[in-house]
Amino acid sequence: MRRFDLHTHSVHSDGTTRPAEIAREAAAVGLGGFALTDHDTVDGWSEARDAAREAGVEFLPGIEITTKHRWHSRHLLGYGIDPAAGELFDALAEVRSSRVSRAREMVRRLSADYRITWEEVVGAEDARTVGRPHIADALVAAGYFADRGTAFAEVLHPGSPYYLGTYAIDTVEAIRMVRSAGGVPVLAHPAALRQQAPVAPVELQEFRAAGLWGAELDHPENRADWLPLLREAASELELAVTGASDYHGAGKANRLGERSSSEEIWEAIRGLAAVPR
Ligand code: AMP
Ligand code: FE
Ligand code: FE
Ligand code: ZN
Repeated sequence: MRRFDLHTHSVHSDGTTRPAEIAREAAAVGLGGFALTDHDTVDGWSEARDAAREAGVEFLPGIEITTKHRWHSRHLLGYGIDPAAGELFDALAEVRSSRVSRAREMVRRLSADYRITWEEVVGAEDARTVGRPHIADALVAAGYFADRGTAFAEVLHPGSPYYLGTYAIDTVEAIRMVRSAGGVPVLAHPAALRQQAPVAPVELQEFRAAGLWGAELDHPENRADWLPLLREAASELELAVTGASDYHGAGKANRLGERSSSEEIWEAIRGLAAVPR
């Protein structure tokens, strides 16, 4: 029974491994295939696709889009979107550019108390989607914190005076744009610990009406006690249920393939997607 990891990050966003390394690692851990879902960018697709072919695993091009619904941050996975879809990619460019100004301002605020610079934060790969994890890495490299998690807990969380929000696409709009780009929208980690509450069933219903295809209920950061309600809602709304690791290389404890999806889910997505491989 082959398993598939539907949510991974590379150095094109806040992961620490190259797309090609993820492909090789996927083969090494015995996965049938994986999706690369970097935050707000598709830059890693071609390297991942070539490396997957070489490593003998299947590849699904994906993305994790920064969205918000009312006041709440919601991450939306989009699989197999057509990279020629102008509307979606214009919106993503706006998200990435807002991420740059926001991260610059957070670094400016932090630099009053911590000796870190913008250059240390963006490093050599200034084309990647920048986020708080890169600020965390600079703080860790400068010796202030032991790891990303500690830096988040101490200075990068939303309640911190150094914190600033970033532009996010309205979730309903993003779902609609993923669909019109021929993609398959799946709500990422709807019961993640870091949220104050799970995504409510009425919200799922609203997303479903906009075209949501599935919900990532099997994710290492979903809270077990929040899941029964969401399982029930997903089943009532006939949403597919996916599983994935949200692998970030050394940036998070999540191991590649620790959560995964069935071949049935994998094939269903590939059947629906505009860019199937
Ligand atoms: P941003 O999108 O810039 O606001 O940063 C959010 C990203 O930081 C998410 O994609 C997570 O992968 C990552 N993240 C959030 N909390 C933590 C944590 N405690 N440790 C490591 N990474 C985290
Ligand atoms: Fe991330
Ligand atoms: Fe996420
Ligand atoms: Zn992710």
